[in-house]
Amino acid sequence: MRVVVLGAGFGGLELATRLSEEFGEDLDLVLVDRSAAFVFGFAKLDVMFGRETQDAVTHRYADIAKPGVRFLQSTIRAIDPATKRVTTDDEVLEADVLVVALGADLDPAAIPGLVDYGHEFYTVAGAFAVREVLANFGGGRVVVGVTSTPFKCPPAPSETALLMHDFLRDRGLLHSSQVSLVMPLGVPIPPSPEASTVLLEEFARRGIDWYPDRLVREVDGGRKVLTLADGDELPCDLFLAVPPHRAPQVLVDAGLTDNGWIPVDPLTMQTSYPGVFAVGDATSVGTPKAGVFAEGQAAVAADRIAALLRGEEPTSTYDGRGLCWLQFGWDSVAKVDVTFSAGDRPFGTMQGPSVELTRDKQEFGSSRVSRWFGQP
Ligand SMILES: Cc1cc2nc3c(=O)[nH]c(=O)nc-3n(C[C@H](O)[C@H](O)[C@H](O)COP(=O)(O)OP(=O)(O)OC[C@H]3O[C@@H](n4cnc5c(N)ncnc54)[C@H](O)[C@@H]3O)c2cc1C
Repeated sequence: MRVVVLGAGFGGLELATRLSEEFGEDLDLVLVDRSAAFVFGFAKLDVMFGRETQDAVTHRYADIAKPGVRFLQSTIRAIDPATKRVTTDDEVLEADVLVVALGADLDPAAIPGLVDYGHEFYTVAGAFAVREVLANFGGGRVVVGVTSTPFKCPPAPSETALLMHDFLRDRGLLHSSQVSLVMPLGVPIPPSPEASTVLLEEFARRGIDWYPDRLVREVDGGRKVLTLADGDELPCDLFLAVPPHRAPQVLVDAGLTDNGWIPVDPLTMQTSYPGVFAVGDATSVGTPKAGVFAEGQAAVAADRIAALLRGEEPTSTYDGRGLCWLQFGWDSVAKVDVTFSAGDRPFGTMQGPSVELTRDKQEFGSSRVSRWFGQP
C-alpha cells in the first residue's frame, strides 16, 4: 500500500517519521516538497533579529534517512483526490492513501503598498530581508501588524513586538522609537486569560502600543501611514507585516477546499474523499494555524493509517491540545498549554516566563530535528 504525503513541514515530517518508526522497510511512503530544506516557524524570529545563521536554522531534506521513506523534491501541480493521483514537476504519483500537509501560502500583494513599503517576516526570505532592514534602521515608528485572518502562530506578532522593543533598547534607539502592535484579536492569547494579562502588562511596561480588534488594510509609503480596517490611520516608518494567508492554489484547483481551507473530520483528519487525509495549516479543523497542532493532527492521521496498513479498525482521535512557547525576550520564555476541541470553549494555562523554559523551547526544536532528520 503506497502512502503519498504532500508537504514536508511540521505535519508531513511527523507523519512520515511515525509510520517509518512503526513499519520500517515494509513502508512505501513518498514525501513530496518543493523546498530543499525545512525551517521552523519560530526560527524566523531568530533570523530577523540576527541571532542565528542560515546554516543553523536550515534542515536539509536530503539528510532524511528513514526506512520506507523516499523524499521527492518537486512542485506539486495537480491533485485528483478521487483517484489519489498527484502530478508533480518530476513524477506522477499514484497513492493508496494520500495525506495533504501543504500548509498555508502567503499573499502580500493582496494588501496595497505592502510589497513596496512593508516588510513581511513570515517567510524565510522575508525574515532574512528584514534582518538587513533592521541592521540599517536608525529608529522611528515601528508597527507589527496583522493584515487578515486566519494567520499562523497567533502569538508570533506579540513576540515580535516584544523582541523589537528589546532590539531597539539594545541599540540605544528606544528614545527615538515607538513600537505598536495591530492585532485582529481582543486579547493577545484568547484561550489563556492568564497569558493575555501577562502580555498586556508587559506591553504596558515596555511602552508598546496595543491596537486590538484591528487589521492593517493598506500601506501608504509616501505619507508613511497605515490604514486600518476601521479607517483609522497609524503613522509608520517601518511596517513588519503578517501578510494574508491562503490555501495553496493547487488545493483550490483540486476542489479540496471549502471557504478557503480543507474541511476535515476534527477527530480523524479524514477529508470527504475516502483514503485522503489533511492535516495542519491547510485545513479548517478549528485549531490555530501552528506547528504543534499540525504535528498532533499528523500523529492521529499516522495512527489511523497505521491501523489501515495492519488491516485493523482505526481508533485514534484528535484532542486539539498543543503546547506553545512564548518568547518574552531571548532569555525569557513562557509555555502555554491550550486545547481547542470541537464544540467546547478553547482553554489554556501558562507557565513562566522564565530562563529555564528557554531551554525547554530549545529542546522542543532539537528533539524534532533529531526525530525527523535522524540528527542529534
Ligand atoms: C514567525 C513564525 C513563528 C512561528 N512560531 C511557531 C511556534 O513557536 N510554534 C508553532 O507550533 N508554530 C509556529 N509557527 C507556525 C508553524 O510554522 C506552522 O503553523 C506550521 O509549519 C504548519 O505546519 P504544516 O505542516 O501545516 O505546514 P508547513 O510546515 O508550512 O509545511 C507545508 C509544506 O508544503 C510545501 N508546499 C506547499 N505547496 C507546495 C507545492 N505546490 N508543491 C510542493 N510542496 C509544497 C511547503 O514547501 C512546506 O514545506 C510560526 C510561524 C511563523 C511564520
